[in-house]
Amino acid sequence: MPIRRLPESLVNQIAAGEVVERPAAALKELVENSLDAGATRIEVELERGGKELLVISDNGCGIPKEEIPVALERHATSKITEQADLHRISTLGFRGEALPSIASISKFRLRSRTAEDEHAWEVRIEGGAMGEFEPISAPEGTRIEVASLFFNTPVRRKFLKTDATELSHCLDLLTKLALVRPNVGFFVRHNGQSVLEAPATNEASERVVALLGKKARGELFPLLWEGEAAGDEVRWEGLVGSPNLLGGTTRSIYLFVEGRPIRDRSLAHAVQNAYREVIVERKYPTVILNLRINPEAVDVNIHPTKTEVRFRAASALYGSLYKAISTVLEDAPWAPQRSMRPVEYDTETGEEIAARQHRIEETQGGYQYNRRSSSTFERYMSGGGPRPVPVSYEQAGGAALAQEWPQAGAEPEARPGFFTNLDIVGQFHNEFLLCQSEGALYLIDQHAAHERIAYERLRGAALGSGGKGAQMLLVPEPVELGASEAAALLEAKDDLERIGFELEDYGTGTVLVRAVPGPLAHRPVKALLEDAAAEMIEYGRSRAGDQAIEDLCARMACHGAIRGPTALSEDQARSLLRQMDEIDFAAHCPHGRPVVKEFTRAEIEHLFKRTL
Ligand code: ADP
Ligand code: MG
Repeated sequence: MPIRRLPESLVNQIAAGEVVERPAAALKELVENSLDAGATRIEVELERGGKELLVISDNGCGIPKEEIPVALERHATSKITEQADLHRISTLGFRGEALPSIASISKFRLRSRTAEDEHAWEVRIEGGAMGEFEPISAPEGTRIEVASLFFNTPVRRKFLKTDATELSHCLDLLTKLALVRPNVGFFVRHNGQSVLEAPATNEASERVVALLGKKARGELFPLLWEGEAAGDEVRWEGLVGSPNLLGGTTRSIYLFVEGRPIRDRSLAHAVQNAYREVIVERKYPTVILNLRINPEAVDVNIHPTKTEVRFRAASALYGSLYKAISTVLEDAPWAPQRSMRPVEYDTETGEEIAARQHRIEETQGGYQYNRRSSSTFERYMSGGGPRPVPVSYEQAGGAALAQEWPQAGAEPEARPGFFTNLDIVGQFHNEFLLCQSEGALYLIDQHAAHERIAYERLRGAALGSGGKGAQMLLVPEPVELGASEAAALLEAKDDLERIGFELEDYGTGTVLVRAVPGPLAHRPVKALLEDAAAEMIEYGRSRAGDQAIEDLCARMACHGAIRGPTALSEDQARSLLRQMDEIDFAAHCPHGRPVVKEFTRAEIEHLFKRTL
């Protein structure tokens, strides 16, 4: 084949392949353009997750009529003019590719009006060909309509996911952009219904509540840190969450460079590291932090979607972020109860034990100091003290444990089985149950066993091998989540209903819960749903049908089971063994970790050289 220059429309389509892989990517480019144009109000309308329609309207500076054709040309931009500018980019866009790329793969309509214009001008583009300009009455600003995205690239279209998945990607992106710009109003509708409403505000924390839900109210504290990193002046600004505001994945760590959302493993690690003392493993803090830095110290032009950036002094930045967060955490600003807390003394030295040394040792979930003394839950279990008020996930988990493992007397006649017949020797560090039979010693991981039981019951209910089904709530509970979390849950609504949840879309990021699976009935619904949604967004749904149900049961069981050391009474330990006999027990938890280890008498004797 002779070498030929590709037609412009094909070049644009190829470029679109790089930048625009799904509706959320087109949306990102267009909303970034609105922000670059100085908009203070951005309205987004989506249909079918953005696959059918994306409309972005802003009140920005508009594009003069004579510049519209240029804006639609490849590599046309008003944002940089020379090579040197590439090293000091202060706008979100600069490549001049978005408009022509998106226009080449959709039915595209652009309407714009500047302050000088008497009316707006509108032009349509289909398959890369521009139509006539038409005058139209419209307010100052720009409105871009992208219909039938990928209509002429069927392969790309085929790879699009369900409406709900595409919607949750769109909302995820909008959430990020909106988090660092409280003074810009964001209003999003999907299929005619409002899904996100974030009016402009001067209160950064108000914005976070609008986006991430009411759980964030009162749990965010301002951070402002100015210093130096490898010779560059840096400034970290934003909000850091209390150890009560946790996520199940790193998604709750929102990092930005000059307002640009970025993904950076090293910086995310610095955040986790700074929180290490106050948060237990496998949970992540919520932070929204924007880095202000000399633009020459960052290269944002390493990837077409611009979500990854390269820093000139990455390790110095790591240090600066770590320091910035540690400084705020040192004051533990979320702990008004500090003054009310009894002072504790080291029994040996008599020294006062500083608040920060109290790591959360006992449990997973919220934060608590003074956990060295017995917990409310333990006191409750031992018969003294009041019934615990579930203030945090693990305490509520503890209360659930008490209900699920009934005290003696309430116990139904145990079906004799392998575990039921074991003698209980004791508990090792309140984490492992030590049991024996005539011929062996058994170590049982309480958490893994509990998780396995919950998993089998959920799975049984869903896949029809018996078990407890849904338990209706007396009063349906509205659970406020972020917009993308709600969308992710609603996408998995059918599966969630099979395992016993009953959910309803309540609009604007809220899900109404009418029923919960019996085996999870005593767990805090909100925490369960939040964790499940975060994982769904993070890991997606890779499988279908019964396998998807099994994945979901595993996730739910994991979040529903008690973590961390828990003292068990003998009755509770018996109850656990009985339940282990009741399920179709395999010696592994759903994540494949072992539940029980057996050490035969012969092995133990061999260890001590009693036998040869
Ligand atoms: P880039 O953002 O990289 O400059 P785009 O293709 O996204 O390239 O946009 C091309 C140009 O069109 C921009 O540089 C800007 O001048 C203009 N433009 C695009 N969208 C808007 C908008 N919403 N308001 C004002 N001007 C816009
Ligand atoms: Mg752009």
